[in-house]
Amino acid sequence: MAELRWNPLLRDWVMIASHRQERPQMPKDWCPFCPGSGRVPDDYEVLEYDNDFPALMQNPPQPDDVATSFYRVAPAYGKCEVILYSPNHTVTLPELSVQHIRKLVDLWVERFETLRKDPNIKFVFIFENRGEVVGVTMPHPHGQIYGYSWIPLKILRELESAELHYNSYGECLICRIDREEMEFKNRVIIENEHFVTYLPFFTEYPYGVFISPKRHVGTISDLTDEEKNSFAMILKETTGMLDSLFNYKFPYMMCFHQLPVNVDRDYSKFYHFHVEFYPPMRSKDKQKFNASSETGAWALCNTTSPEEKAEELRQAYKRFLEKMQGGK
Ligand SMILES: [Zn+2]
Ligand SMILES: [Zn+2]
Ligand SMILES: [Zn+2]
Repeated sequence: MAELRWNPLLRDWVMIASHRQERPQMPKDWCPFCPGSGRVPDDYEVLEYDNDFPALMQNPPQPDDVATSFYRVAPAYGKCEVILYSPNHTVTLPELSVQHIRKLVDLWVERFETLRKDPNIKFVFIFENRGEVVGVTMPHPHGQIYGYSWIPLKILRELESAELHYNSYGECLICRIDREEMEFKNRVIIENEHFVTYLPFFTEYPYGVFISPKRHVGTISDLTDEEKNSFAMILKETTGMLDSLFNYKFPYMMCFHQLPVNVDRDYSKFYHFHVEFYPPMRSKDKQKFNASSETGAWALCNTTSPEEKAEELRQAYKRFLEKMQGGK
């Protein structure tokens, strides 16, 4: 079963994808993403791979006959892609060279451009879940792309806030947040010519950094060649910094927020591309759980001080740079 069901309380779609439960257990020493598996080319560097068990499809099945005059269903229209970062089974994002990550950036841009050509797709979501605590079953380095046929609620809320802000102040909300952080300085962790990484004032995640371009750019497609190189660099440094916090591969959710596509409303003046990280740990071995307040009321709670955590992240970043200079 694969369909969308409308949640009238939240006014948002829920993806029902019960066929995903039937995903087979993989044989222990076999990986479909490794060259030689027969599932991928023998000589790729980065690769798009259509998800074998997609929650969204460009030829979705008929929804089950469960709708009523009140409850709505819709076909599970969209696309789910897997983005393979490297043919090497054990390497992860911060261990790739900047030139290699740049190839990944180019692949993201190419997939974004391809998906936006489908007029039924309204939001292209590029993301990575890393680590078993966020449910990753396949260690081979990869991210994903979902092409949704609607603008998901969190994104919509950001866009609406950005529009309200623009109407009052005549400026993009993300540009304003970036400026606040860069002027305050204490939560800025990494900065290069075109990008900045900071731990935002309002973060609910102890290590929930954002990466933002310094120029007002709506999507990754709008980045210049030089900006794409800077982005590759800051991605490596930001994820490397997270790994240097406690010297192990730090789990995270990495989420790209960009302008929606194929929608009537033009948000391009109000809002710009940024990356949000959600590492599910609040210390070396303690997980941050979303419990009743967070899940049942969306009343979020960060039990740490962002200014203190920013300092801890800067120290981790320093250690990462030293390790890089030490020839690793
Ligand atoms: Zn593999
Ligand atoms: Zn902006
Ligand atoms: Zn955002």
